Amino acid sequence: ALMITDECINCDVCEPECPNQAISMGAEFYVIDPKRCTECVGHFDEPQCVQVCPVSCIPIHPEHIETREQLMMKYERLQGRA
Ligand code: SF4
Ligand code: SF4
Repeated sequence: ALMITDECINCDVCEPECPNQAISMGAEFYVIDPKRCTECVGHFDEPQCVQVCPVSCIPIHPEHIETREQLMMKYERLQGRA
């Protein structure tokens, strides 16, 4: 899963781009729910939030390093297929 750092400027552009509704406004800036972020696996070739973020503040979450297989399983689960 990816995460949003405190460099986020709350520009709102990433939230509607997420195919998994993983992004929401947090206490101070936008946050990603690691349970819903598949790094866009299953939907797109590239993480859509990273593509649109103007300040490049969306790295991989160091506590949620996942393989492509694990991300695909999460995608299937979110789709209700597994
Ligand atoms: Fe959503 Fe994809 Fe960004 Fe994860 S990488 S938060 S699934 S847009
Ligand atoms: Fe924050 Fe980047 Fe999302 Fe804008 S696109 S709200 S700066 S994480």
